[in-house]
Amino acid sequence: MERLKSGAERMGIALTEAHLDLFRRYSALLLEWNKRFNLTAIDNPDQVEIRHFLDSLSGLIVWRGLVSCQEAARSGRMTRVIDVGTGAGLPGLALKIVWPQLRLTLLEATAKKVRFLEHVIAELNFREVAAIHARAEELAHQPEHRETYDLALARAVAPLAPLLELTLPFLQIGGWLLAYKGPAVATEVMAAERALAVLGGELHRVIPVEVPYLAEERFIVAVRKVRPTPERFPRRPGIPVRKPL
Ligand code: SAM
Repeated sequence: MERLKSGAERMGIALTEAHLDLFRRYSALLLEWNKRFNLTAIDNPDQVEIRHFLDSLSGLIVWRGLVSCQEAARSGRMTRVIDVGTGAGLPGLALKIVWPQLRLTLLEATAKKVRFLEHVIAELNFREVAAIHARAEELAHQPEHRETYDLALARAVAPLAPLLELTLPFLQIGGWLLAYKGPAVATEVMAAERALAVLGGELHRVIPVEVPYLAEERFIVAVRKVRPTPERFPRRPGIPVRKPL
């Protein structure tokens, strides 16, 4: 975990032995299950530290810049976060390790990945983390999930326009979406203008992030929910991606 520790330090995050222990155990489970169930394309420990953990943690830096921790603490309740299309738990679980006060929902459409998430939650004894096997298009219409979250996260799930339809319905007014993106971000943002307007979002900023040991360009798109999302969104499963707004 040397790269993770030094990389996080370069990002301004001091990882304790307890954090590192959780990351170590999470990585071991991920690599072990990956041999049998093909959960993620990344299959070596160094790459897990860099491409999964450090990349995920870049969202924490952005979030800290958007909402001060004091502000969150003063509100007197836990920050409700949903990770849409979490796969093997990223970026959500990496953030949970360093930010234990999160109340985290991991949403994933593939059953075997949800079984893995349940196993990790039990093994690492995470509190206030739920893994839900569903599609965003369906879960976002359930009253206990609709417009109730403070923060939505999504990495490598869909281009920005359809992704807005899969995430903004979960956010309460004033909530934030952090979408992890690569070099195509500018094109994706241009194509998402209409979706933003229709779904009640406002582009705050496209933030370039430097992930230590990673050569590729990485960005986080920060979107604020400013108006309610019309009831008819998201549309039926598959439609947001096939026919983006
Ligand atoms: N976010 C993880 C990461 O960065 O490692 C996983 C990325 S993986 C490429 C995309 C995941 O999103 C897949 O596991 C897929 O099953 C899930 N997914 C795609 N569309 C979804 C939807 N509409 N609702 C729930 N999960 C979805």
